[in-house]
Parts: sequence; C-alpha cells; structure tokens
Amino acid sequence: MQNAPSFSCLACREASGRFVLEKPGLELWRCRSCGLVQQHPVPDAAAVSAMYEQEAHYADQLVRGADEVLAREREVVAELAARGAAGPFLDVGAGAGLLLRAAREQGFPGIALELSAPSAELIARTLDVAVHRAAIEEAPLAPRSVGVVAFSHSLEHLRDPFGALLRARELLRPGGLVHVAVPNWAAAKRLLAGRHTPWIYAHHVTYFERRTLVALLRRAGFEPLSFTVGRFVGLDYPFVLACLRRFRLERSLRRFLRMGERPLEELIADGVRIDCPVWRYRAVVAGARLFLRLWPERLCCRFGRGEELRVTADVR
Ligand SMILES: [Zn+2]
Repeated sequence: MQNAPSFSCLACREASGRFVLEKPGLELWRCRSCGLVQQHPVPDAAAVSAMYEQEAHYADQLVRGADEVLAREREVVAELAARGAAGPFLDVGAGAGLLLRAAREQGFPGIALELSAPSAELIARTLDVAVHRAAIEEAPLAPRSVGVVAFSHSLEHLRDPFGALLRARELLRPGGLVHVAVPNWAAAKRLLAGRHTPWIYAHHVTYFERRTLVALLRRAGFEPLSFTVGRFVGLDYPFVLACLRRFRLERSLRRFLRMGERPLEELIADGVRIDCPVWRYRAVVAGARLFLRLWPERLCCRFGRGEELRVTADVR
C-alpha cells in the first residue's frame, strides 16, 4: 500500500508510514522512522471522547477478575515504593480504581483522572482520592505537585501520548517517577492471533513494543529504570476466540455448539444458553482450558514476547 499523505507519527512526527493491518473501522500503520505502530488516520477528538464518556467497561473490572488485577496493581505499587516513590499518586485513566486502591493501601495520597462518568463516580464513591474528569493536559494540577504519574493501560488510548508524557514530566516533583503499562505489540499471542488480537480495537490508538516505548519516554525526557514483560491479566478466553478466528475454526465451532449466527463472544458471557448437548459445551470449555494451560506465556515473557510491557522511569 502507498504511503498515506496525511500520516504523522504520534511519537516522532515523521510523515512517512507503511500499512500494517486493517480490521473493520481501523487501520494500523508503522512509522518508517521510529517504528511506532498506530491507527491511521488517528481518530478525531470527538470520536475518542464519545468512546469514554459513558464507558463502564473499566468499572467492570471490579466485578470481573478484580482480585487478579488488584494483585498485579499491588506489585506495581510495591515496586514504585521500593524505588522511593512519594505521593501524591496520579493515575491517568484510573478505570475501576484498582491501581489507586493499591496505592492507598501503601499510604499514598491519590488523584484519579478518568473521563468515563460511571468509572469516575465509582472511584469517588469507593476511594478516598481526588477525582477529575479530565485528560492529563487539562487536569487542574500544579507543576511539580505529584510524586508518581501512572499510565496503566491508558497511554495507548491517547491521541497524543508524547504530549501526555511531557505534561506528566511537568507535573512530577524532582525525583518523581512515571509508570507505564501497555500491551506488547511484539507479543507471541499477538503474532499468533494477528488482527484478531482482542486488544487491537478502536480504543487503542498506539501499539508499543519495547524499543518504541523506550524511545518515546526518552524523547519526553524520561530514563527507564526497569522494564518488565509480563502476563496481561484477564484476556485469556478472548485470546482463545481470537485464535479460533485466526485459524478459521469459528464457523465449525458455532455449528458444533449449534449457535447459529450468534457471536462466539457469547461463550464468555454470564449465563450462556446454548441449544446443544451439554457435553459439547463442556468439551469446548475443557479444550480452551487445556490450550491456555499449555500456552507457554512464562517462556514468552522471558524472551520479551509476553503480552504486557511495564516500565518505570524517572526524569532525566
Ligand atoms: Zn515515529
């Protein structure tokens, strides 16, 4: 595919990119200079705001898999504390507030930035933290007023991740830390599932791998202190569905389960009702569990191919 005339890299502003993949409503391109993968065209601001205003998806974390997510967030906060982090702890895109809950447990004063009304209300109701329904660029915070800025699965949602990191740098006190967690574009799971990967979707504007994330942080004036490739909590069954699609097994499976044209996603909803002998459904669930048990995510992480990147950096 030809170079798109209007391409502009969200990390380095390079005007030249090459097509990577497409999905309904979404095209991904890679910057020819720094290698960042991003949506092209970048969704406009109004479309992005509309996605989040009434979004309750992240608040759902409180009900689904909250324990596992909270355990992961406690690890993140413990690592930051071990590096001498001080409060306030600013969480950009606080979602269900689980990272802030972990930060509060460690005694950090917390500040939540959250655009979604249901999520912001949930945090205000359940946590003793300040909540602003604002993007980091517009947040009513003074320069050098926070000790930690966390972008936990939020940086990839932003239309201007570089601008957001510059603002984070401005908000940090001397000695402050930034923490970023994003899906890993170089993940073995992404390579296997291709464009069916569950986290390739309209909400994710940018797709980082280690080198592009480090380059963006350095360009914004940060120096990475630690880099971890880990497991992405909560996406196991969506990954199985993505693989079924990737290997064109979707139709056979729907036929086996007598699902007609119903989407496979219904299999991971609550109270699944399927009009087939129950052994068939149980066999599919057992097969999915076996596949997930055999999937060598730990080994993938060791070789940098795990599904999540986490980096902690300080100001240079
Ligand atoms: Zn670039």
